[in-house]
Amino acid sequence: MTGKAFASSADLGEKTQTLEVLGDGVYALTAEGDPNVGAIEGDDFVVAFEALATPVAATDWLTKLREYTDKPVKYLVLSHYHAVRVLGASAFDAEVIIAHDNTRKLITERGKQDWESEYGRMPRLFKEPESIPGLTWPDVTFSDSLTIPLGEDRGDLVLQYCGRGHTAGDVAAWIPKQKILFAGDLVEAQAALYTGDAFHSDWSTGTLDRVKAFGAEQLVGGRGGVARGREAVDAAVEQTRGFLTVMLTEVGAVHRRGGTLAEAFEATHTALAPQFGHWPIFEHCLPFDVQRVWDEFDGIDWPRIWTPERDREVWDQLQQV
Ligand SMILES: [Zn+2]
Repeated sequence: MTGKAFASSADLGEKTQTLEVLGDGVYALTAEGDPNVGAIEGDDFVVAFEALATPVAATDWLTKLREYTDKPVKYLVLSHYHAVRVLGASAFDAEVIIAHDNTRKLITERGKQDWESEYGRMPRLFKEPESIPGLTWPDVTFSDSLTIPLGEDRGDLVLQYCGRGHTAGDVAAWIPKQKILFAGDLVEAQAALYTGDAFHSDWSTGTLDRVKAFGAEQLVGGRGGVARGREAVDAAVEQTRGFLTVMLTEVGAVHRRGGTLAEAFEATHTALAPQFGHWPIFEHCLPFDVQRVWDEFDGIDWPRIWTPERDREVWDQLQQV
């Protein structure tokens, strides 16, 4: 059988990481389509946003950040439960790890399987995987929003749940005073979407509406470059919505006429490839994305758990043709 290499398993080229200063005490590390991370300074502490895949990978990020601030990381915010976003947590030595209620639930339910699945799909991101001490557990969780005062002149950092989206428990981090938004994987700028654990209808409607309503002037998505300026921010949100809407349309049409999952994959691939096909992880994500949209049309509300075995099964069915 000739087929594409599984997921991102053949993607072994190092990406260049760039630390960008977005405002007063606000930093983002972008990496040419690899997962982004951020940091926000308070008067005498730092809030870290996302933790990368391993403590060794996170330490590289902290080393770069330390050229700008030596304040201790008091809070580590997990935007959602995915392994490549959380398993580096121990490197931050944070006093408090914060996440959404549903993120704790998902880590309990499927954290171990997700770790194995993501390691198989994207081995390059797991720099020295043996440095991971175990699953990452939040100390504090919330259901709607949580505000961290950064200090008198800095204003607040608002952690906001915007509805079901990329997962059941995504958190965005909003700095009203500087109009900067860290959107996690709810928005991707010039990178393909991973939606294997998503709620496509909610995400493409109310959830993205709430993200857009922040009125951010700079937006850091889960992958891809920083969107600078309202126009670019809105474009990133709408590009994300467009990807979701095309999937819903294409998969929905095949599902309604009693077609097969493979036909739904072909139709979606054909529709998305011209605009998104050259973007990072497009081929990697699409089989898992289409399977999840299909499940939603089958009435499966709560996403099925991905395991290395199920990953291969779906991949072999859709990409090895
Ligand atoms: Zn994710």
